[in-house]
Order: sequence, then structure tokens, then C-alpha cells
Amino acid sequence: MRAVLLERQGGPVKPTTLPDPEPVPGQLRLRIKACAVCRTDLHLRDHEIEATKLPVVLGHQIVGITDDGRRVGVPWLGWTDGTCRYCQTDRENLCVNGRFTGRDIDGGFAELTVADERYCLALPDELSDEQAAPLLCGGLIGYRALRFTGDAARLGLYGFGSAAHQICQVAVHQGREVYAFTRPHDERTQEFARSLGAKYAGASDELPPEQLDAAIIFASAGELVPQALRAMAPGGTVVCAGIHMTDIPSFPYEILWGERSVRSVANLTRRDGEEFLALAPEVPVRSTVSTYPLEHVEQALDDLRAGRFEGTAVVLP
Ligand SMILES: [Zn+2]
Ligand SMILES: [Zn+2]
Repeated sequence: MRAVLLERQGGPVKPTTLPDPEPVPGQLRLRIKACAVCRTDLHLRDHEIEATKLPVVLGHQIVGITDDGRRVGVPWLGWTDGTCRYCQTDRENLCVNGRFTGRDIDGGFAELTVADERYCLALPDELSDEQAAPLLCGGLIGYRALRFTGDAARLGLYGFGSAAHQICQVAVHQGREVYAFTRPHDERTQEFARSLGAKYAGASDELPPEQLDAAIIFASAGELVPQALRAMAPGGTVVCAGIHMTDIPSFPYEILWGERSVRSVANLTRRDGEEFLALAPEVPVRSTVSTYPLEHVEQALDDLRAGRFEGTAVVLP
């Protein structure tokens, strides 16, 4: 099969050919129709997080067709032990032996893959392959982060990429006011956020006109944590949704005081996937998509790093 391989962290991903993967009992073989690009793919490629397996096929937002013609989605959560104290208490996202697609298990930047059937998600029929793929990490981990904001009426989104542009639509649908924050001077993305219903869009180093009840940080810049705390009303929660963040600078206790809190979100449970995939067509979430052929995954990652597209990059093998 054709595939794109990360052989060495810090280096480019390269097109190659690999033997067709063979499913073991319990696995599905999938012919891949689309695989969306996530910032975690870029963190692995750029060596901002450690690879657990090299070489590896990145990509964990996979839409594929089984040998018997069913369409399924493969998300980041690829396998759990089912027996650890987290799995036994409804927190399989924290499984101590969890295995993740496109990191521990070869992922979706390829023509074929195999996936444990128990972790594959049914996809809504009304969504095209290109529209379904971005839901599978950006959308559903963003949705998990949104749940942790409770009933916050004024919601800040720091970093307005794949996840935020989907969660903005969900939050507006739920009747919340969305405040979007981008890199300073990125007027194009601020306009994009307003076009998706954000009440306010501005630079991340500026305070919004009103205090916020919660914020989700999707960007990986640690200085956004105190920046978001400064925008919080008393009782507000700042949720860090990414897998990697640069160091958080020290900050005065007074911006945390007043029962403000900071927390992170890690991975997903299958229930998150089922809930979000049921909700997305109701909103409806419409992803802004830039497509790339399989041989151009490195270009897609480069464009993501540079902020050259709005929304989500989707690789079509
Ligand atoms: Zn992801
Ligand atoms: Zn477990």
C-alpha cells in the first residue's frame, strides 16, 4: 500500500510503500477514504512530544470502509486494557495502558489500516468523508473540553483552528456567546471566527470587553494560561485541550483566586465519540476543509504550522 511514514522525529514525513496490513481477530481492515490532520500529528513530527514507535504512520482521524462495506471512524483512542482503575471508573481516556492511533498504532496517512473494532465509531450518514474526518479528534476532544466548561454563558476559545472552529458552532448552537482569540494581527482568522457566529474576535494578548465564564485553550503557547485567567470572571474555568503546551509562565495568585480554575483534558472516551457524533449533525457542524493528496502530508503539516489555512486539513488517499 501507499503510505506516508515518520521515520525520525524532527524530520519530514515521506511517501513510501508498505506491506498491506493484515487484521488479527477483533480488528477491522479499512480502506481509508479520508484522514484529517491534527496538531498532535505536527507535535509528533516536530518532536514536541515523544514518539512511542518509529517508524510510524501518523493520522488519527480516519474515515474508512470495512471489507464488508461499512463506513466507520477511527479516533485517537485505539485500545484500552479495560481493567485498570481508570477503565473501571468510566475514565478510559486515562487508561494506564492505553494505546493511541497514529502514535502507538499505525494511523491513517495511508491507503489501508487495521483498527480494533471495539474502538471504531459509527459515522452519521449525512456527512461526507471529508466532513466526518475532522470530527474525530478536533471535534470530539474539543467537545470533551466544552463539557468541562459546564454551562458557561461567555466562552473564550484561544487558538482558532480545527477544533475551535467546530466547537464555536456547537457553542453558538447551545446559545453561548463565543469570544475567539487568535495570534495578534491575524485578522483573517478573526473574520473567520465571526463568520461562524463568534460575538467577539480579537488578539490573544488583549482582554475581551466582558469577563468570561470559561475558556478553552487549543493553542500550544503556555503564556495563554495566565492570559485566559485574566479574562475570567470569578468562578471561571480555563480548560487546556492540547496534548502539548510550552511552559506556563509564573503568574500572580490573584488572577487564580476567586475560585477560578485551570484544568487539562486528555484523550477521549468512546462515549465522548458517540455523544459528539450524534450532536454534530444536529448543530450542524460544518468544517472548513483544505484537502491534500496522500503524497503531500508534509505540506499539510507545514501549512498547519504556518497557519496557512482556516479550519482543517484533510488528506485523501
Ligand atoms: Zn488529535
Ligand atoms: Zn485501563
